[in-house]
Amino acid sequence: MKLELHWQILVSMVLGAIIGIAVNSQLGTRTTSLEEGLPPGIVRATILDSNDLIRISWENSAGNQFESVVDPTGRTPGSHITIDDLTNATPEARKLYDLAPSYAYTVGAWCKRIGSLFLRLLQMISVPLIIASLSSGILGLGASRRFGRMFSTTIGYYLVTSVLAILTGLVITNILRPGINSELRLDAARAQVKSASIGETVINQIEALIPTNPFAAMASSAFLSIISFTIIFCIFVLKSGGQVHFRFQQLADDCFSVMMQLTTAIIRLAPIGVLLLMIYVTATQGAVVFRALAWYMLAVFLGLAIHACITLPLIVRIIAKRNPLEFARSMMPALLTAFSSASSNATLPITLNNIEQRAGVSNRISSFVLPLGSTINMDGTALYEAVAVLFIGQLALGGEFGIAEQIVVVLTALLASVGAAGIPHAGLVMMAIVLQAVNLPIEYQGIILAVDRVLDMLRTSVNVWSDCCGATVVERLVSSGETGDTYA
Ligand code: ASP
Repeated sequence: MKLELHWQILVSMVLGAIIGIAVNSQLGTRTTSLEEGLPPGIVRATILDSNDLIRISWENSAGNQFESVVDPTGRTPGSHITIDDLTNATPEARKLYDLAPSYAYTVGAWCKRIGSLFLRLLQMISVPLIIASLSSGILGLGASRRFGRMFSTTIGYYLVTSVLAILTGLVITNILRPGINSELRLDAARAQVKSASIGETVINQIEALIPTNPFAAMASSAFLSIISFTIIFCIFVLKSGGQVHFRFQQLADDCFSVMMQLTTAIIRLAPIGVLLLMIYVTATQGAVVFRALAWYMLAVFLGLAIHACITLPLIVRIIAKRNPLEFARSMMPALLTAFSSASSNATLPITLNNIEQRAGVSNRISSFVLPLGSTINMDGTALYEAVAVLFIGQLALGGEFGIAEQIVVVLTALLASVGAAGIPHAGLVMMAIVLQAVNLPIEYQGIILAVDRVLDMLRTSVNVWSDCCGATVVERLVSSGETGDTYA
C-alpha cells in the first residue's frame, strides 16, 4: 500500500525530528584540543561545543590567551547569542570552531546542504510558474471589470485577516505577559541587526511595484515586481483583444500546464527534502534556549494556533461555505513544506499545485491570490511581530505598553508583514520598523534570535494557510457576484 503524499511528508517530518533530537543529544558535545593545523599565529586552541554553550579558547605565539563564548541564553557575560553573531564579531574564533564543531553540528550542516537541493528545485520553478500561472489566470478572465472585483476582494481579505492575527497576538501577550514572567535580562541582547524605517519600507514597496527593468526583476526573483509587471502586461493583452488575446492565452495556458507537470514531479521529492531539513533544525538547536524563552514561544504558539485553528477555519466555513478540515487536509503537503522550509516563496509551487489539483479552486483565482499572498499576506508574521515587540517591550519597561503604543504596534506590524519577503527570517529583519516605531532599540531583538527558526517554521505555515483560505474565500465572493460565468 502506498501512503498518500501528505502522510509521507508527515512521517518524514516526525522521523527527521526524532533522528535530529537523537543526534543532538548523543553527538551534541565535543571537546577538542589542537596544537596542529591551526591558522597562522595561533599555537594552541581548545574548542568545547556542548548543547548549551560553545567555548573557544586559543593562545597566540606571543603567549596571549583569548576566549569567545556562544551562549544562546546570553547569561554568560560577554557572550554571543548565535554562531553567526560570533562570525561577525570574531572571525578568527569562527575559523577555529569550524576545525572541530560537534558531530551534531556537522550532521546538521550536511543535511541542510543536501535538503537545500530540494528547495533549489522549488526556487528554480517559482518565477516561470508565477508568470505562467498568473497570466493564464488573468487572460482567462476575459474582461478587466472582473479583475477589479477580484483585486479589491483579495486585498480586503488580506487586510482583515492580518489585522485579526495581530489583535489575537496582542490579546495573548497582554494575558500571558511573557516578558514579565520570564527570567531573561535584556543585557543579553547585543546581536547586530539591520534596520529599516517605516517611510523607507513603504517607499520600497511602491518602488517594487514599478520595476525599472522587468527582466532584471525576473533574474533576481523580485516577486512583487514580477507580479505587478505580469498583471499590467496581461491587462493590456486583454485590452488589445481579438487574435492577440487568443494567441497569448494559448501560450500562457500551454506554459502553465507544462509548469504544473514539472511541479508535480518535484513535489514527489518533498518527503526526502523535509526529512533532511528537519534533521538539520533539530540536530543543531539545543534544548536549553527553549527553556529560557519558553513563555515567549508559548505566546507566539498560542496566538498562531488560535488564528490558524479557529479564526481562519471560521472564515472558510462561514464565507467560503467549505469544510475547513477537508480543505486543510488537501493543503497538507503545502503546509508541511512551509513548516520545514520556513519560506512561503519556496512553497508557492506546491501551494498552487495543491489548491488546484487537490482542493479544486480554479486557476484564475488561485493564480492571482496565492503569488500575491505569498509576498504580502503574512498573518503568521504579522502576529509574530506584535507578540515579539510587546515581549521585548515588557522586558525593557518591566510593564505593559499603553494603548497608544499598542495601536502603533498594530499598524507597523501590519506594514512589516506586508514588507517581509517570503524567505526564512524575513520577519525578524522587518521587526526593526516596529521596534523603532515604539522607541525600543533594535539591538534588543538579539534576545529572540536563537529561537527564531522554530517560530519561523510555525508562522510560515500560518502564512501559507491564510493564503489558501484566501483563495477559496475570494473564489466564493467573486463568483457569487457573477451570473452565467464559466471558469477558464
Ligand atoms: N519565513 C516567512 C515566510 O516565508 C517570513 C517570515 O520570516 O516571517 O513566510
